[in-house]
Amino acid sequence: MTVVQYSSGNRLLDALPVSDLASLERDLTIVTLKAHQSTHSAGRVMSHVDFPIDAVLSVVATLKNGETVEVGTVGSESFVESDAALESSVASRTAFCQVQGSVGRMSLASFEQRMTTSVMFARFMRHNVRAVLFSSQQFTVCNLKHSVLQRCARWLAMTADRVGRPQFTLTLEFLAIMLGVPSAKVAEAADALQLMGAIEYLKGAVTIVDRGSLERVACECYEASKAAFSESLLLSA
Ligand SMILES: [Zn+2]
Repeated sequence: MTVVQYSSGNRLLDALPVSDLASLERDLTIVTLKAHQSTHSAGRVMSHVDFPIDAVLSVVATLKNGETVEVGTVGSESFVESDAALESSVASRTAFCQVQGSVGRMSLASFEQRMTTSVMFARFMRHNVRAVLFSSQQFTVCNLKHSVLQRCARWLAMTADRVGRPQFTLTLEFLAIMLGVPSAKVAEAADALQLMGAIEYLKGAVTIVDRGSLERVACECYEASKAAFSESLLLSA
């Protein structure tokens, strides 16, 4: 008899040992998020942890003047907020949905219970936070050393990986905010990527046409971050 194993659609959860996967369905509610919908607020107590399925969430830092810049992008390789795996019930950053789609939502109480009762669940979550930290440091270097074109290509390739399909909704104005660069610079980069046949951009939707070209333009940070998350999903018992 074939046993059908539960699959949440979130790669981090689906990498868990069978013993953890078995009871997971009970603790997850599938929630569909619209673009820009808030999921976590900085300084507030979290009620839940979100495991993206095909939604992409943005974690942003907000300055005193109200300006926000993306400090993390989270898809099916991870979860929001990392703080929950570090014994904090308070979100240190604001998060919202960037590309609409669904997430598996787990109450903070269930998450905390799993962290204390399942050694493997706790290991997977902590190793994932390690990959988040590595990527965050990598992107600090990226912002200093790599061009807007390279960063745009890296960001688009990562987003396509996260949603699991080559087309997704995105406005260039929003991408400019996320990268913290003027929208004219992002429009210039998008035009260049379109001219070389890597992407098609039309009315707020991006289609990756030639994945190879896009990855060749993207800086090394794309592969570095991807490798860090892949490694975090390969924990053995
Ligand atoms: Zn880079």
